[in-house]
Amino acid sequence: KNTLASTDPELWEAITAENRRQEAHIELIASENYVSHAVMEAQGSQLTNKYAEGYPGKRYYGGCEHVDVAEQLAIDRAKSLFGAEAANVQPNSGSQANQAVLMAFLKPGDTIMGMSLAEGGHLTHGMALNMSGKWFNVVSYGLDKNEAIDYDAMERLAHEHKPKLIIAGASAYSLRIDFERFAKVAKAVGAIFMVDMAHYAGLIAAGFYPNPVPHADVVTTTTHKTLRGPRGGLILMKEEHAKAINSAIFPGLQGGPLMHVIAAKATAFKEAMKPTFKNYQEQVLANARVMARVLGEERGLRIVSGGTESHVFLVDLRNKHVTGKVAEAALGMAHITVNKNAIPNDPEKPFVTSGIRLGSPAMTTRGFTEIEAEKIAHLVADVLDAPDDVANLERVRAQVSALCAKFPVYGD
Ligand code: PLP
Repeated sequence: KNTLASTDPELWEAITAENRRQEAHIELIASENYVSHAVMEAQGSQLTNKYAEGYPGKRYYGGCEHVDVAEQLAIDRAKSLFGAEAANVQPNSGSQANQAVLMAFLKPGDTIMGMSLAEGGHLTHGMALNMSGKWFNVVSYGLDKNEAIDYDAMERLAHEHKPKLIIAGASAYSLRIDFERFAKVAKAVGAIFMVDMAHYAGLIAAGFYPNPVPHADVVTTTTHKTLRGPRGGLILMKEEHAKAINSAIFPGLQGGPLMHVIAAKATAFKEAMKPTFKNYQEQVLANARVMARVLGEERGLRIVSGGTESHVFLVDLRNKHVTGKVAEAALGMAHITVNKNAIPNDPEKPFVTSGIRLGSPAMTTRGFTEIEAEKIAHLVADVLDAPDDVANLERVRAQVSALCAKFPVYGD
């Protein structure tokens, strides 16, 4: 057998080094997670060899009888997990899922409304350099003085600009989103209502965050964040939109679907239906709450939006006189991985920022509970108190190593 190690030792070394990093570092990037062995097995399977343009039962290639089964399993499970009328499991990424919605319903120059990137939205919701911002006329809503979504302003803007599409959903927003309120506004102005639930999908599947599916025309998501599947996208929709969305994905945007990834999505959806997935998501919420409480109430940092009702929250670093960029690097030296993130009205540039984003999905998967979450929050605060103190970083790193050794991710 040609193993990767013997065929390509350089690449093998990079992969094993990454495996070691994942085991030995505490992962607090809110959009990451560790998939199961079953998901990796599906994704590493021979299904990567198969061309299957089209949809189950209607393919442009022969020999699709088995990949049809895999894709149909993924579709049926996605529908039942979220209570959706129809599903497309082919988007290669969350961004492509969002592009497909724009392509299905709009023409270049039409007006869309989404949450501003600077206040928590995603690139694909109308950021100037993204296709969504270049090809469409964008109206953005943001946060109110309490750093909650400013629903009144959103409603006012919708009536003023009459967008054809309204997007709810965020990449850096810790509170529950009132999807019902968005849906009412969209209906009142005759807009298509799209929700991008990428960050919250796992919590939603487990019933711990409001489910947008009953309220939205279309719901997009990634499958690799809280949902703990392979990297990829998924679209859920009302049956009446299925034809337009399916043809926007293929042949609109994509050719052959990644059948190995679709198989891995099917497995992840099955895992998400188990009672243990509910327990997992409950722990995700508890761990995020504990970290936000310790940092906010015990260590003197300001938590954006006043706390968290999900897996994620932003920390305002300004009273420590540390930028997001410096914090990310110092935490990295201590083997705690985070990303710098703009806070509302951030005085710093996007590449510097005044905040960090913390999330609990990955650390919870490796088995950390409230006890470790509390310790980790103190370790994060210790680093932020003295990010240039090498001895301090080394002391934290030793404690991180001990915690990681006690809770292996894959244990091999
Ligand atoms: N939508 C939201 C809300 C996201 O946070 C992200 C990823 O960060 C995406 C879409 C894009 O997903 P992908 O990175 O798979 O293109």
